[in-house]
Amino acid sequence: MSRDTTFAARSREALADVALRRTLSRVTGHFTATRERTLAAWEHGATKLANGAAARLRAVENLATLLPELEEKVTALGGTVHWAEDAAAARTIILGLAQERGVTSVVKGKSMVSEEIGLNAALAASGITAFETDLGEYIVQLAHEPPSHIIAPAIHKSREDVAALFEKELGETSDGTPEMLTAIARRRLREAFLNAGMGITGVNFAVAETGAVCLLENEGNIRASTTCPPVHVALMGLEKVVATTVEAADVLQVLPKSATGQSMPAYFSVFSGARRPGETDGAREFHLVILDNGRSRIQADPLFRQLLACVRCGACLNYCPVYRVIGGHAYGATYSGPIGLLLSTLLSGGEAHRGLPAACTGCGACVKACPVGVNHGRLIMEIKRRMVEEDFLGGGDGFLASLLAKGYAFAAKRPQLFALAAGTVRRLDPELARLSRLAPLARYAAGRELPRPKEPFSERWLQLDTEEEA
Ligand code: SF4
Repeated sequence: MSRDTTFAARSREALADVALRRTLSRVTGHFTATRERTLAAWEHGATKLANGAAARLRAVENLATLLPELEEKVTALGGTVHWAEDAAAARTIILGLAQERGVTSVVKGKSMVSEEIGLNAALAASGITAFETDLGEYIVQLAHEPPSHIIAPAIHKSREDVAALFEKELGETSDGTPEMLTAIARRRLREAFLNAGMGITGVNFAVAETGAVCLLENEGNIRASTTCPPVHVALMGLEKVVATTVEAADVLQVLPKSATGQSMPAYFSVFSGARRPGETDGAREFHLVILDNGRSRIQADPLFRQLLACVRCGACLNYCPVYRVIGGHAYGATYSGPIGLLLSTLLSGGEAHRGLPAACTGCGACVKACPVGVNHGRLIMEIKRRMVEEDFLGGGDGFLASLLAKGYAFAAKRPQLFALAAGTVRRLDPELARLSRLAPLARYAAGRELPRPKEPFSERWLQLDTEEEA
């Protein structure tokens, strides 16, 4: 699906894909059902959820002290911290590290931030081969597609799709069972782990108090990506820090339950700097790249700041009635679903994602699902308000919408003018209905009915008064 079209066009394309809708419905339904079972059985779950959320929200408030503390601790552990103001700076840092060491291939653990900065394309342009080693990421990389879900990158693909892809791209035939498909990927990737000069991962959370970087996974590929190659580069958005180990444990309790419905992931890894003398495993060099790329701007806004508490569990995507029918690619951005439309719109700060706020029905399902209390609905409304009142994200619609809203506000404050305008619209109703059948409105009006202007409330109120008196 091309990112060069509008959100509306991509959505239409997705909605026409019946197989995609079936796959999305099945997988998101599985995620939500498993999550609900796990949360219902969680002893003292409400308190523990609140602890995890509080840890994240506190961290977001205290980034100015936690990040320097994290840098100090990582450095003391023998690691190196790099600060990247934007995507280009992060790419330059990572490419520089690879080129200085003569690295020709890297293995990668799943990292949405690396998608955000377009790392794979930059590595490829410099002649460095990147192997995605998370199974879902491996599948979308083979398909030359971006991930379509924060935690399940290949959620849009059925087993049959993957079997066909492996046959086309790898020349591997299979019976289409998950076991056989996984075995093929494992065999192919094993060599990549052994030959890579660098492992690149994301970060689920970093602990300021100790300098530890924590990663959750289910496949063991992150363990292999960080222990086979001599260099480990971890890339994190600057918000992914927590203050203490106790608070990290609070977040660890919440994240897998909200993401996949697992009490704990299969692997939980804690990286404390580079391998020290006498140790037998771990990368010899550890680099932590901390990315801003618009996050400071979000942090500075008292309302939008809550977005940075997100633990990327993906629950809001799984419950969103829009995501569940159009999938991630229709958003045309790195992040999709309720959290994605907010992050993409605010991080880019530009026109590319102007259509995304329309991807919300206002049902509030995402708000109920969010373990850290992000109020997506309120924030989406605020973006829409700023688009109208402040021409936020640029473009011309803001001016027109603003003019209409101001016109409405002007009339609404003047009862006689409002009654006159409403009466005029009612009198023009048959004409408007006819007008809607003409091009270019005909396509929009097909299958829709214009709302019929009714007798205004003020007139009905007067009638009520008269009826009561009678
Ligand atoms: S906004 Fe909330 S529900 Fe959505 S991914 Fe982030 S933490 Fe999960």
